Amino acid sequence: MEKQNPVYTLKNECNDCYKCIRECHVKSIRMQGGSASVINEKCIACGHCVTICPAGAKRVRNDIDVVKTLFLTGKRVFVSLAPSWAGVYNITKEKMIAVLKNLGFAGVSETALGAQEVSIQTAKMLNSAEKGLFISSACPVVDDYIRLYKPDFAKCITPIASPALTHCKLMKKMLGEDIKVVFIGPCIAKKNEADAHPDLMSAALTFDELNYWIKEEFIDIKNIPFNGNCKFEPENSYEGALYPLEGGMNETIKQVGIDKDDVTFIAVSSLDSIDKSLQNINPDKIENKIFVEALGCSGGCINGPCLSSEKSRILITSDIYANTQYRENVPKEPRVVVEKEYLPMPVEKIEYSIEQITKALRKISKHSEEDELNCSGCGYASCREFVNALISGDAEPAQCVSYMRKIAVRKAAAMLRCMPSAVVIVDSNMEIVEANDSFEHMFLSEEMYEIFASRQDGLTGASIDRIVPFSELFKSALETGKDIHQEHYAIDDKLYDISIFTIEDNELVGAVISDVTKSEMDRSKIAQKAREVITKNIATVQEIASLLGEHMVETELLLNSIAEGYEGANKGDMK
Ligand code: SF4
Ligand code: SF4
Ligand code: SF4
Repeated sequence: MEKQNPVYTLKNECNDCYKCIRECHVKSIRMQGGSASVINEKCIACGHCVTICPAGAKRVRNDIDVVKTLFLTGKRVFVSLAPSWAGVYNITKEKMIAVLKNLGFAGVSETALGAQEVSIQTAKMLNSAEKGLFISSACPVVDDYIRLYKPDFAKCITPIASPALTHCKLMKKMLGEDIKVVFIGPCIAKKNEADAHPDLMSAALTFDELNYWIKEEFIDIKNIPFNGNCKFEPENSYEGALYPLEGGMNETIKQVGIDKDDVTFIAVSSLDSIDKSLQNINPDKIENKIFVEALGCSGGCINGPCLSSEKSRILITSDIYANTQYRENVPKEPRVVVEKEYLPMPVEKIEYSIEQITKALRKISKHSEEDELNCSGCGYASCREFVNALISGDAEPAQCVSYMRKIAVRKAAAMLRCMPSAVVIVDSNMEIVEANDSFEHMFLSEEMYEIFASRQDGLTGASIDRIVPFSELFKSALETGKDIHQEHYAIDDKLYDISIFTIEDNELVGAVISDVTKSEMDRSKIAQKAREVITKNIATVQEIASLLGEHMVETELLLNSIAEGYEGANKGDMK
């Protein structure tokens, strides 16, 4: 069965804010039916979208059950514990090991041991190389980023497996080939490593998953009892513990020793910085030896996506340094090497024709260059980038905010036009911002109508004082912020119901005005008829039996007439 991508979206939770698209460095997110989903084959599992999604809709695959199932196999399951644990959990290593053993693990070893082997092998490789650009393979996010999006540099990635995979190999060598290893750390991308190399790493959990599991088991980590068996296996780590810090790997390689001191070490963290570092470089034309320690998370793994800690990064860093032991002599030969080839796997970039792009731009109402606002509201840096996603089916027109605004304005204008009541919006300068046709017909004289019809903006900007005799109502609503309802406001031989309401406090008010003259007339007609019914019925009572039948027929006729009167009034209101 195909495994779920390490990062996925809970579609029902997505509020289609496009933040994940905006912030995903590789744009591996598709909008469909108003919700975002991860494009698995383009995702490098950096986890950034998980940390920034305001709705909590981006999730990390939970592999706790996978580990529990491993326990059921009866095999010994060990933890490869990422060195950043020391900065996250404020407990001694003995307690940390006791916690993990309490969950069911057979023992705990430090991933830093694998890091040390990687550093030794890297130093060896750099010493034997003549020249070239070398990029560390330690970060699976960077490895995938380069393979998929910077394929020309894939050959520069050192052909060594990551410290985590190397550590799994070392553990199997030292603790038994049949053991199972579960990585635990701040990194989501390690789940991809586990999926690709189940023979070495059976599963990968994040610190967040571990915290959840500890809580689920009600383990009191501060007060957990421990015994003499709570030691890292098969030994304590040394300088490899510096790996989660930016520059840490470089430091460890230097400790192994560079024979001729002829390597330039550079540390780069974050995908943005990696982009900048690799700009305008031809890896085939490097004449010296350059080693780039490249990490996907800015500042290193201590800023990994699943390392939720209240602790300041300065304290985390200082705790990692404090817990790191240094060796006087670092071996020159690694105990294990896991070779790994990083082949380019470029993500296909389709170049669309001018016709396709123009057609797609038209779809979002962009007919000229000026229409292309490049505002990033859709999640993309430019309108062109957005229409590329639109053509490839990864985006929807509704993402373009300016297009949606235009549609909304058009819809509102159409609705205003169709309303039988007069509608007008007035600003704090007592000037008309918007008015519908009914308003014009209701209040403009023929002469005024001619004047305003010839203006490009119509009534927009016209002073409301000049148009209606009840402008003081607008003034009052603007000043007080209170809604006003005025019934039967008489102008000449007409009666109006006026409702003025606040759109923006003291800035903008709107009014709906209905001509109720006709319905008032209908109402008096009804009253008149009703009075006639009463009069006739009184007469009927007076004339007693013989005339009753005749007058009852008359009453029925009258009531029919009333009903017609009502009908007429309702039809009039509908106009
Ligand atoms: S960040 Fe992405 S997943 Fe989260 S609510 Fe916004 S669009 Fe949806
Ligand atoms: S995990 Fe990273 S690459 Fe994958 S969708 Fe999220 S932000 Fe993009
Ligand atoms: S105008 Fe629309 S398509 Fe262009 S960047 Fe802004 S939201 Fe995206």
